[in-house]
Amino acid sequence: MHDWFASSADDNPPVRVFKFGGTSVGEAEPLQNAAGILQDAVVDCQPVVVVSAAAGVTDDLVRAAADSRGDRATANAWVRDIGRHYRTLAQDVLGDAPACTQYETVLKAELSELRRALQTARSIDGAARDAVLASGERLMAPLFAAVLNTEGCPAQPVDATALLRTDDTHGDATVQWTETKTRIQEWFAEFSTDPSSLVVPVITGFIGSTTDGTTTTIGRGGSDLSAAVIARAMDAERLERWTDVEGLYTRDPATHPDAQQLDELDFEQARTWTKAGRLGMHPSTLDPLASADIPVHVRCTYHPDAPGTRIIPAVPAR
Ligand code: ASP
Ligand code: MG
Repeated sequence: MHDWFASSADDNPPVRVFKFGGTSVGEAEPLQNAAGILQDAVVDCQPVVVVSAAAGVTDDLVRAAADSRGDRATANAWVRDIGRHYRTLAQDVLGDAPACTQYETVLKAELSELRRALQTARSIDGAARDAVLASGERLMAPLFAAVLNTEGCPAQPVDATALLRTDDTHGDATVQWTETKTRIQEWFAEFSTDPSSLVVPVITGFIGSTTDGTTTTIGRGGSDLSAAVIARAMDAERLERWTDVEGLYTRDPATHPDAQQLDELDFEQARTWTKAGRLGMHPSTLDPLASADIPVHVRCTYHPDAPGTRIIPAVPAR
């Protein structure tokens, strides 16, 4: 039988995309686990990381955008809250490491952008709202990269507005595939010029930009889709989707104690269920992967050794 999860025998390490969701990056323990996962991975692949905002932050940003309406005091209170969230996380995970001080600089710059976005827009919708929502992922990618660097795994944050080209349907923008693919491939050719000194890019999920460079977001839960688009553009050997549950279940394990965990799932079945909102993934996640037969491995950041659930293409070709 064809082994979809075997590494390729090529000289260039195969690209493997690692997507970490909000609960996997929102606390110190899973963040530290993530660093271990990537340290193991660099041995036999070129990891490309895609991150969500820390859990709960995008919801806060939605509220901040709705509340602030250009009011300075309200905007400042939200910025303080969100800043505190990331600062606490950075201290928990980086402690006294110099990277914590460096992250503080990034944090301040990003928070002042956020403050400006919240204070200037009287009616926050469209582009102004997306500028606000994007800051959750923009604050996360540099922190995640700092954790990797501190653990001895060279990493660099990458803002996906340089990679994902979208239309201007703010809040639910559509990724323009042809241009996005070219941008990702050109970016990566420059990024990884030296295969002997591998650097892990840490890309912001959820966001992209229009032709004129305006930031967009691709719909709530969109980091899954960002990761899938990136995996497809890079012809990744697989997408590893790291989350807070041990895999995919027949029903929601939080509300159904009898839910069974699945070891393996056929791609088309998974795609149908995903579209019906059943597997806890963005409904379009599997679309970019289907025609390229790129498998998905759903795994748990809290229990990295657990087998997880493999979504495998039905036809062994490739
Ligand atoms: N942070 C965004 C959201 O909460 C995107 C994601 O997590 O996938 O919707
Ligand atoms: Mg999600």
